[in-house]
Amino acid sequence: NVLANQIAAGEVIERPASIIKELVENSLDARSKRIDIIVTKAGLGELRVIDDGIGIAEDDVKEAFKRHATSKINTRQDLFRVQTMGFRGEALPSIASVADVLMTTSTGGDAGTMIHLHGGKMTDFAPAPARRGTDVTVKELFFNTPARLKYLKSPHTELSRMVDIIDRLALANPDVAISFTHDGKELFRSAGNGNLQQVIAAIYGVKAGRKMLLIQGEDNDFQISGYVSLPELTRASRQYMTITINHRYVRNYQLSKAIIDGYGSKLMVGRYPIVVINIDLDPLLVDVNVHPAKREVRLSKEPQLSLLISDTIRRQIAKQNLIPDV
Ligand code: ADP
Ligand code: MG
Repeated sequence: NVLANQIAAGEVIERPASIIKELVENSLDARSKRIDIIVTKAGLGELRVIDDGIGIAEDDVKEAFKRHATSKINTRQDLFRVQTMGFRGEALPSIASVADVLMTTSTGGDAGTMIHLHGGKMTDFAPAPARRGTDVTVKELFFNTPARLKYLKSPHTELSRMVDIIDRLALANPDVAISFTHDGKELFRSAGNGNLQQVIAAIYGVKAGRKMLLIQGEDNDFQISGYVSLPELTRASRQYMTITINHRYVRNYQLSKAIIDGYGSKLMVGRYPIVVINIDLDPLLVDVNVHPAKREVRLSKEPQLSLLISDTIRRQIAKQNLIPDV
């Protein structure tokens, strides 16, 4: 079973950044309002995620580390209406199989629970303080899978991947206060007050924050909202475009293209806008169960959505141009 988990870990847990993604997504699913991420040595020291979410009841703690044990899917029907970030029940057992994991968790009742696993084997299980929420520390990442350890890039690269994932999670969840501290230095903090423009400013700079245009659009199936930069504010990489579907960060070539199309000739070739948009839709219209890392999605009515995105952006930018400079 440890072996099966290690194989699954190969798909879900490629690098330190994947651990942060999975742990933070669990915190979001647990309806946390505050999530603190503390890392040392680009993840090869320690990776810790502390949340103030619903916690796990003592009886369910061991279960959470078993494969395909998810509390989020109960029926076959649920699989077609995924509302949570997680649903495969793979992350915790995968992480535990390739590292040392210490979790303390509490639902805020009388007591909490502490569980310690090493290479997928439980080494300790005991009562813990009743602080509501969950605190997970991952150490010795890939200690028993040296090939995977070797495959990691430089600490600088691993850290920048972590920052990228944290940025996207914060942009997708402006109502959650997220902080990131690396080697004792705070690299990011969002207020959690729901103000997306503030989160954008915290990530891309205050000046960028001021040059964003609020966009909103909808049709019968989709509602889109967010911020796009004015055509004069561009970057040389598409990395600054964040698309979320029901507040899940996704990568989708067609939708990225629809954004660019919305700018038309206003955008210089090879330049990309800064964009953060969320699309709300019926979960039935999207299949997130395509890839273990859940980043790629399959969309029904993709052409219709693409059209809505480019039309909305085109319209709002045109409107902006009617307002004379002061
Ligand atoms: P999934 O998220 O796909 O359900 P995971 O392996 O990531 O699977 O987590 C297993 C289960 O552990 C979750 O379904 C959830 O019940 C519980 N869990 C994990 N992390 C947290 C957390 N931070 N707060 C509350 N419950 C959690
Ligand atoms: Mg999960």
